[in-house]
Amino acid sequence: MPTPTFREPIWRKSERWAGAAGPLRVRVPLELLAIGGGFLGLSTALHAARQGLSVAVAEAGSIGEGASGLNGGHVIPGFKYDPDRLVELFGDARGNAMAAFGATTADAVFDLIASERLDVPHVRLGWIQAAHTNAALAAIEKRDRAWKSFGADVATLSADKIAQLTGARGYLGGWLDRRAGVVDPLSLVTELACVARAQGVQIGEGVRIVSLRRNGTLWSAEMDTGTTIEARHVLIATNADTDGLIPGLAQTLVPLHSFQIATAPLPPEIGATILAEGQAVSDSRRILVYYRKTADGRLVLGGRGRMAVPQDPSDWRHLERALLRLYPELAGIAIDRRWFGRVAMTADHLPHIHEPEPGLLTLVGCQGRGVALMIAMGRRFADYLAGGDREALPLPVTPVSPIPLHRFRRVGIAAAIGWYRALDAFER
Ligand SMILES: Cc1cc2nc3c(=O)[nH]c(=O)nc-3n(C[C@H](O)[C@H](O)[C@H](O)COP(=O)(O)OP(=O)(O)OC[C@H]3O[C@@H](n4cnc5c(N)ncnc54)[C@H](O)[C@@H]3O)c2cc1C
Repeated sequence: MPTPTFREPIWRKSERWAGAAGPLRVRVPLELLAIGGGFLGLSTALHAARQGLSVAVAEAGSIGEGASGLNGGHVIPGFKYDPDRLVELFGDARGNAMAAFGATTADAVFDLIASERLDVPHVRLGWIQAAHTNAALAAIEKRDRAWKSFGADVATLSADKIAQLTGARGYLGGWLDRRAGVVDPLSLVTELACVARAQGVQIGEGVRIVSLRRNGTLWSAEMDTGTTIEARHVLIATNADTDGLIPGLAQTLVPLHSFQIATAPLPPEIGATILAEGQAVSDSRRILVYYRKTADGRLVLGGRGRMAVPQDPSDWRHLERALLRLYPELAGIAIDRRWFGRVAMTADHLPHIHEPEPGLLTLVGCQGRGVALMIAMGRRFADYLAGGDREALPLPVTPVSPIPLHRFRRVGIAAAIGWYRALDAFER
């Protein structure tokens, strides 16, 4: 029997995506080469092609093989920081512009699904942030005030209301963000590839870019086959899989593992009491778990996993324990699938845009919240590539600045995760 890789999610590929294996044959210089065929690379490619640019996407594996096909499918607007904190950090103009962009990122996903009639299972009934301590409740109330003053459709939830919506044990209250929802992420990324290709984007799977060289006003990207592609602009859309194409970029990130489990379809009498209205949930623990139901009635729950590559189903045991803590009635329900992927964290918990040389652009550091962000950023990058107005980008363009002692950060983070789990167990 082959050794499991734990890289096969419960999600399904678009039926009309037949793949794009084989070399990219590009004979004349392109306007844009996107490296990475996830949400960011494909969304930028689609919108750039719509603006009349000639575009190709090089994906080292297959479409959806990265985080975009492996994630939990929670479509959550905004950044980790609320509007008031963004203003504190970046000042009025930039902070408010970032918050205004953040407020619309989930719209970008659901508008795309609707306008392109994408065949993507989805529900837009909101995302719940669930509080398990009084301190978390206070933080949620502050968050509610910050977003309400920004005009967002959000509400606090009492202990009774959150128990009714989630069916879960142990929450003191929560926050509902009605702008959010859930999608099947693998359907979304492969459907996005279909519409990008229909718009004229060339897509190559199994095409790894191994080096980049500037050649006057053009970039020359060498593929692992030894041949090159020339383009006026290159977008590095490799997020947690970032390698050495831009010196120092990988050292600005700490890639962490996020693990997920999917139950068997729940028996109807139990399923009706769990997330009855279809919201997604993240809880307030420092090492949070996040969960949702699928179109076929499974519960999919995710959370941080060990730093080493998992070898065995027992590496998911902490998530199975979390599932039963929330829903003791699920004891005895089979876990049908376990998988994992990498999320890219930055030191300041914000995504970073860099343009270290003219024509070489990147956005990295999704903090585990990149479904809405990366799709929305694609349109803004395409506007920038077509129009050249850097100030119109929703995030500042910053220099690549590696995390000091980067090599040792992973060890420190692994130790901190153990400590936070212990605190979560004791704090009430
Ligand atoms: C388990 C998990 C759960 C998550 N849950 C959520 C969630 O519920 N909600 C949410 O908002 N976010 C979530 N995220 C984060 C979200 O999935 C990511 O932020 C988002 O998918 C990043 O998209 P991307 O296009 O930037 O990168 P990716 O989708 O990772 O794509 C990068 C691609 O680049 C390719 N690549 C790398 N190097 C090269 C090269 N040299 N040449 C060519 N190709 C290359 C890789 O093969 C990969 O396919 C989760 C992530 C994980 C891993």
